Amino acid sequence: MASLGNFRFHCTKCGACCKYPGLIVNVTPRDVRVLAKHLKADAAGMLKVLGFYQIEPGQGQSQEDVQERMVFPPLKTHRGPAYLGLLKSPTGECRFLAGDTCSIYAARPRICQAFPFSFKPAGEGPAISVARFATTSCPGIGQGEPVNPAKVKETGKLILAEIDEARAFARRWNNQPDGDPGAFKPARLVGEMLARVSGATTRPKK
Ligand code: SF4
Ligand code: SF4
Repeated sequence: MASLGNFRFHCTKCGACCKYPGLIVNVTPRDVRVLAKHLKADAAGMLKVLGFYQIEPGQGQSQEDVQERMVFPPLKTHRGPAYLGLLKSPTGECRFLAGDTCSIYAARPRICQAFPFSFKPAGEGPAISVARFATTSCPGIGQGEPVNPAKVKETGKLILAEIDEARAFARRWNNQPDGDPGAFKPARLVGEMLARVSGATTRPKK
């Protein structure tokens, strides 16, 4: 975006971003660990709040086009590549939305913390943009004080570092030798995310 200095934003807590149709609330391994600690949940418990979302390429698009757009890495599942995110209610809302309020506010995923901004790697720092649906659906844009550019950039660096960790995790997970394609073990996948602290090399038993 051209300039952060004049961008005013104040969340009105309307909940619109948590109800946006088609939105996947993507999570990184770090988000999974933070949420598991908050919910006091193990891998099996986390699977009650996480979903593996598949995205069909649009007309004239390939899976690579989808992956380029997503930023978050896909994980290999028995149904094909899928993106890990928070589960949604049947009406399409994030399952953690209670009324118009986030029920896991302190442990919400980083992309929720970063909203309405989204980030991509760039030369000297993150490239910052406003999420496409935010420009039409977020009443907080244009409200309140100008944002602190340094703070937004810092959030961008954090989220990109965490996406790097997610990519490293996905590379390792996706490159395991093919076994029985029906033997996808989501609890093992989440268990490995929970066990993996920064720099750790230990892996849980199967
Ligand atoms: S849509 Fe905007 S104002 Fe509404 S809850 Fe989300 S960030 Fe806040
Ligand atoms: S985790 Fe909270 S802030 Fe994020 S989409 Fe769900 S309800 Fe909204």
